[in-house]
Amino acid sequence: MKNFNLAIDGPAGAGKSTIAKRIAKQLGFIYVDTGAMYRAMALYFLRNQIDASESDRIEEACKDVNVTIEYKDSEQLVILNGENVNAFIRTEEVGNMASAFSVNKAVRIKLVELQQELARRESVVMDGRDIGTIVLPKADLKIYLTASVKERSKRRWSELMEKGVIADIDAIEKDITERDHRDMTREFAPLKQAVDAVYLDSSDMTIDQVIEKIISLIQSK
Ligand code: C5P
Repeated sequence: MKNFNLAIDGPAGAGKSTIAKRIAKQLGFIYVDTGAMYRAMALYFLRNQIDASESDRIEEACKDVNVTIEYKDSEQLVILNGENVNAFIRTEEVGNMASAFSVNKAVRIKLVELQQELARRESVVMDGRDIGTIVLPKADLKIYLTASVKERSKRRWSELMEKGVIADIDAIEKDITERDHRDMTREFAPLKQAVDAVYLDSSDMTIDQVIEKIISLIQSK
């Protein structure tokens, strides 16, 4: 049977990864978290003291960076030059740096190739910002998942509190607003809804309701 490609795009905190992960598990697809790849690249640049404004150094460094994805007990491991960096890429700092570095064309070209290769090999649920528009323009189903800035900030805040991290909700809202703006206005592959994507606003929906809706859309294909 032909591989099925489900693309889920949307802004930070819309619930993409939670939902994509659960759908992948339910359908036996591979979950590809492309944000984690941008985060791994950002970690490399941070560790090597390369600034997001230094495009020549970034381009040069891209030749030395090897980001790959492996799966262990159906969990995605992001491997940066041979090292599993899952434990280091989930901070707000790395998320914001990923957003700053992901405006760079060399970074995008490198990661998009890898993502397309994964989708050729397997049925995937892939989430990110440019999946329906650039990475998988022929995806079988495209979802644009969003929620209000207030709701997304609240969710991020609760997530952090659950992990025991004390966070300031106003600072999170400011970060999310800045990240949305940068992701939506960048020159290469900005975040936008693909013309053939289904728009889903999850502000007043539970995770289960969103999953149910997406599964019914897949079944109707
Ligand atoms: O989704 P996540 O918050 O992990 O993504 C981190 C950052 O990586 C995003 O803010 C975005 O700038 C960038 N990104 C991207 N394209 C993708 C996935 C993530 O530019 N496909």
